[in-house]
Amino acid sequence: MRGLMMDRPLLISSLIRYAAEYRGAAEIVSGSPEDGLHRYTYRDLETRSKRLGKALERLGVRIGDRIATLAWNGYRHVELYYGVSGIGAVCHTINPRLFQDQIRYIVNHAADRVLFLDPGFVPLAEELAPHFPKVEHYVVMTESAKMPRTRLENALCYEDLLAAESADYEWPEFDENTASSLCYTSGTTGRPKGVLYSHRSTVLHAMAESMRDTLDYSMHDVICLIAPMFHANGWACPYAAALVGAKLVLPGQQLDGASLHELFEAEQVTFSLAVPTVWLGMLDYLRKSGKRFTSLKRTAIGGTAVPLAMMKAFDEYGVNVIHAWGMTETSPLGTVCSLPPGVAALPADERDKYRVKQGHGIWGVDLKLAGPDGGELPRDGKSSGELLVRGPWVAAGYFNDEEATAAALADGWFRTGDVSTLDEDGFMTIVDRSKDVIKSGGEWISSIDLENAVMAHPDVQEAAVIGVRHAKWDERPLLIVVAKEGRRPDKQQLLGLLAQKFAKWQLPDDVLVVAELPHTATGKVNKLALRDRYGDHLLRTA
Ligand code: ADP
Repeated sequence: MRGLMMDRPLLISSLIRYAAEYRGAAEIVSGSPEDGLHRYTYRDLETRSKRLGKALERLGVRIGDRIATLAWNGYRHVELYYGVSGIGAVCHTINPRLFQDQIRYIVNHAADRVLFLDPGFVPLAEELAPHFPKVEHYVVMTESAKMPRTRLENALCYEDLLAAESADYEWPEFDENTASSLCYTSGTTGRPKGVLYSHRSTVLHAMAESMRDTLDYSMHDVICLIAPMFHANGWACPYAAALVGAKLVLPGQQLDGASLHELFEAEQVTFSLAVPTVWLGMLDYLRKSGKRFTSLKRTAIGGTAVPLAMMKAFDEYGVNVIHAWGMTETSPLGTVCSLPPGVAALPADERDKYRVKQGHGIWGVDLKLAGPDGGELPRDGKSSGELLVRGPWVAAGYFNDEEATAAALADGWFRTGDVSTLDEDGFMTIVDRSKDVIKSGGEWISSIDLENAVMAHPDVQEAAVIGVRHAKWDERPLLIVVAKEGRRPDKQQLLGLLAQKFAKWQLPDDVLVVAELPHTATGKVNKLALRDRYGDHLLRTA
């Protein structure tokens, strides 16, 4: 017997409709105090998103068409999130930091029909446009007075397009499984792969993300989204913020500690989301300037493992770190390390052992571990294997890519490529990405564990451990660190610190101090580049 409840589709337009109706006066603030801030309300956001939707329909955009964006975090980008998906088209956010070849591949693979771009990306688009036969229009996200001169054919001005439309528009209704947005993984291993979200997956994920024991979104929050909107839908923050009607702050391009701190204080930000690299800059600034936060209460950090030292540094500023794990393929939230009552009450040392874990699956996400033969491994906190996930916001395949789809799926589960453990309580710990794990003479060494430990040293600003070639052991760990300003990390001291926690065979064979570490397009330490550069280090110095 079927239930007798209404079958209303879960659509992204319902999020912005809710925010405009019930939290219509709540603000969306974009830019930086230095360049001037733009502010308007959810009511304005919905009105302009509707005008954008109508403008797209006038350009001939139809349900299912892919509409690309090359843009930083700002209000017009949020309008695209809602305007494009709202009419049933697919909002395809492109990471502008990718190599040009990758952008070329992505735009053609997605068959984008229209490309929206921040004025700063006009030169990039001019260079690439001859390779984009399917792009019919380029829309520069600015007003006509600021329209740059451009060689782009069919360049349109964003504000002119909106000005030509009224907001008299009802969001259309369609099947909730309709594709809503598209995001390519950054392809550090192989070609980029398209993750195609649906309205249903996006709305369910936003609900789960905002729950109290997940990221705890509320209308009482002022949320600063630092994670870029071209990385896994800005961690889905623009959707969850509208779902609760929270004030949203979008910092544009200035992500240094001083600029962010000024913005946080000016807008009284209570919650913010970013990868660890950004927070390293912020903490460094606080240390040097002696400044504190007057409003910030919590941060969601993920994308790479969060070192305990970072959590403790935030403790000192009264800010709670929410450690989360996810991937583009999981919308992105998969697990969050929210401590259950028993654990929260433990002494600090015991509690810290939990805090560094990536956490439990959030409601909707199932986790399991697979051994080398595909068989399930026990949840004993020790056995490590490939982490498999499934859930209503986990990718069931890649866009137009059968080969990658076949490789990623196993009996209805998604293979994450992460090596992890699960304990009796279901708490998951990432040991490593399978390609980063160090295989030394048949034993595995976790680069993440070593990095976390060395980050506790007062001379270390940032650290990476990679596996490098070794004549006898195949691979051995090499520790590469960046010094805190004015400090000189000492090799023996660092190894001494590690020796307190690790067996001798797990210790790095050498330590290098470098001026900076390379980062990927999504702000993570680029281990591939480090392996290319230092892969022969031990062979050369042997
Ligand atoms: P990219 O390929 O640009 O890194 P993703 O953001 O999709 O794209 O990367 C997801 C991966 O990031 C995960 O599979 C995992 O390896 C890593 N990751 C994400 N969050 C964490 C975390 N909290 N701790 C450790 N690793 C993480």
